[in-house]
Amino acid sequence: MFQTMIAGSLPKPGWLAETHKLWPKWRAEGDELAQAKLDATLLWIKAQEDAGMDVIGDGEQSRQHFVHGFLEQVEGIDFEHKVEMGIRNDRYKAMVPQVVAPLRLKGRVHAREARFLRAHTQHKTKFTLPGPMTIVDTVADRFYGDRVKMAMAFAELLNQEALALQADGMDVIQFDEPAFNVYMADAADWGVKALERAAQGLTCTTAVHICYGYGIQANIDWKSTLGQEWRQYEKVFPALAASSIDQVSLECIHSHVPPELMALLKGKDVMVGVIDVASDKVETPEEVADTIAQALKYVPRERLLACTNCGLAPMSREVAEAKLQALVSGAALARQRAGVSP
Ligand code: ZN
Repeated sequence: MFQTMIAGSLPKPGWLAETHKLWPKWRAEGDELAQAKLDATLLWIKAQEDAGMDVIGDGEQSRQHFVHGFLEQVEGIDFEHKVEMGIRNDRYKAMVPQVVAPLRLKGRVHAREARFLRAHTQHKTKFTLPGPMTIVDTVADRFYGDRVKMAMAFAELLNQEALALQADGMDVIQFDEPAFNVYMADAADWGVKALERAAQGLTCTTAVHICYGYGIQANIDWKSTLGQEWRQYEKVFPALAASSIDQVSLECIHSHVPPELMALLKGKDVMVGVIDVASDKVETPEEVADTIAQALKYVPRERLLACTNCGLAPMSREVAEAKLQALVSGAALARQRAGVSP
């Protein structure tokens, strides 16, 4: 009950990449960089296990950014000539690569780190990929001329990699779709279909993570415009409840998401965000347990998982480690309160 896991990313050590950045520069290159990525992965596997987490991830140590890590292995994308584009409905500007030809995978994307993760933990593993709609919102299209068509093309490639990750031994494959909270009507209309295409044929657990973004200033400013009640999930949750996806990861603690919206996910496992990624203040176990208690009004206990609101990538290592410990202690306290041995 109340198994613990991270949404996906963890901070990169200072010797691997620039710290406190969403698109950090690597500190090394070639073989040296490849080894450093795995060293950092091992460090975080150990830290997650030491904190007592149930499901272990690679902390996305091998990718510069959660979307562009995948794109680097896709043929048909011009990385040489990036263009500035407003993304997430113009919330912020980013230099993005351009789609210029039919999309095709050059080969495996994450085989190395997934197999490494599998080899170094006995725990259940979770591996994250960007969702098709979020990818479409993070590249410039100079070829398809249609968001849905391009999303379906990316979904096919994601599906190839997801099936291979399953064969590598991953227990949970999660697609990150922050764009679902920005284009709610499109998400319900075709975003969920593209997501299901990406997950087609998977027999491992499938998940989707939908959040209000990393704890960076542009997102904090955006959240302040969303009013007292954030009802974005209301539009997409019914479509997800009717979908083939098993688990939904959502933002909860310190958000203005009305907790009753979780009731719309009937039949799904709910990864409740009980750790804030926009604040360095470490949650107390009581705060975490209280957030779980709030969610328990709308989610059956056997379907409730304890997770972070989003990735921890831009934070400091010390804060991230402390937050993992708070997550685990809080879940244990919640189990105790529910009358189950922690
Ligand atoms: Zn997120």
